[in-house]
Amino acid sequence: MRGLSWTGWRVVADYHTHTRHSHGTGTVLQNARAAAARGLEAVGIADHGPRMYPWLGVRSPGTYDRIRREAREAARLTGVRVLTAAECNVVTPDGDLDLAARDLRKLDMVLAGLHLMVVPPSLSAAARLLLPNVGPWRWSGRARARARQTNTKALVEAVRRHPVDIVTHPGLHLPVDTRELARACAARGTRMEISSAHRETDEVYVRAAAREGVEFVLSSDAHRPSRVGDLEAALRVARRAGLSPERVYNVARSDPQVGAGKDPHSGQRS
Ligand SMILES: [Zn+2]
Ligand SMILES: [Zn+2]
Repeated sequence: MRGLSWTGWRVVADYHTHTRHSHGTGTVLQNARAAAARGLEAVGIADHGPRMYPWLGVRSPGTYDRIRREAREAARLTGVRVLTAAECNVVTPDGDLDLAARDLRKLDMVLAGLHLMVVPPSLSAAARLLLPNVGPWRWSGRARARARQTNTKALVEAVRRHPVDIVTHPGLHLPVDTRELARACAARGTRMEISSAHRETDEVYVRAAAREGVEFVLSSDAHRPSRVGDLEAALRVARRAGLSPERVYNVARSDPQVGAGKDPHSGQRS
């Protein structure tokens, strides 16, 4: 299938895909080939940051240098723009990421998200960030509200303190205050993800975030090449939420002659 259409618009990129360098099954080249087969212009290799266990993340920050070399070669072979990105883990309640500023600067794109399977840098960070989200007490209303507050603050601080281009799957497994996060993202030009892979990404979330003026991105979160560029579920959620394509980063007009179109990479940070 070439270029999913959305009333005259099409998806041109899938920035959130994984490879064997973290816990995906394919190679950088296989993901690029899959993106080419779907008619995409760009694909992001966004392997998990190093503080994810067990062996779910990259071995070390140096892995991204290797991915960059493979991305260059894959781009040459496929004609697809292959971006070296990372899906960083937010590892403290203060928004610290598991990559240093010098590592982030080398990336084409920074994605960040909350995951439970992480190793925070200290016991106190682990207790403050993870404990409210695990264990039987998380089912109590008050504890859940506290967890939501902690999670939201962690993501908001991550967006404020680091050059985060995309917040991945907000609310997946871990509750967040969508509107507060959306306000922080809108203020910083950070996009919020509409994921094809997770049912938590529904139109209620999109509508709530949209009211705060944030921009969105559709992603597959593919962990195998066959799912790269599979953005139909995300597209359905966006349409059901009544989202205008102008609010979605990785779509462009099908016929650039007809509309103004937009450069899907224009807002990208260096
Ligand atoms: Zn994730
Ligand atoms: Zn992911």
